Amino acid sequence: MADLKKVDLILISHGHADHVGDAVEIAKRSKARLVTSFDQAQAFARYLGFPSENFGFDSVGNVGGTLSFFDGEVKVTLVNAVHGSTLTAKEKGADVPYPAGNPVGFVIAVRNGPTLYHTGDTDEFTDMQLLKSMKVTMMLACIGDHFTMGPERAADAVSMVQPEKVLPMHYATFPVLTGTPAQFAAALKAKGLLGRYQPMQLHETLEL
Ligand SMILES: [Zn+2]
Repeated sequence: MADLKKVDLILISHGHADHVGDAVEIAKRSKARLVTSFDQAQAFARYLGFPSENFGFDSVGNVGGTLSFFDGEVKVTLVNAVHGSTLTAKEKGADVPYPAGNPVGFVIAVRNGPTLYHTGDTDEFTDMQLLKSMKVTMMLACIGDHFTMGPERAADAVSMVQPEKVLPMHYATFPVLTGTPAQFAAALKAKGLLGRYQPMQLHETLEL
């Protein structure tokens, strides 16, 4: 986190601790705008101390809405994710859960650049077919199973979204997340989609 010299936007899909991470501290230090649903932003401010000056109607919306940043250079559309969004606040040393609203995914369109689809934590769902028309360059798909879709269902999701490339994420961070990139690659191959597989290593930079 100390390496983050300049942050413009912080996109948080839902309130689970492994997704909120150090966002509060990064927001305070960078003045980055928070991009998420209005409900979740309110909950993050109220229960996690997320600075309320770091979001407003310019940066928070709800599913189906497109938010525009930097004179339209970056457009973020909030999309459905089938998951939960309960955050955990520390109160007198105890972990206390609060409902934070509905989780979201993000479609991030960069002018003259790639369009990224971050699924958030989710299962596959048939409305993912609607994202095909957004011509996704890179889909970031959770594959870990247990808390999200696993490799097989993630490959199904790819067949619905039809991105140019797909990057597996959300695996191996907890022992119960048993889905692996190798299993995902095999599931893509079975659907004739292996050519879209684009894994990354830690600290690797990818140019699209
Ligand atoms: Zn989650």
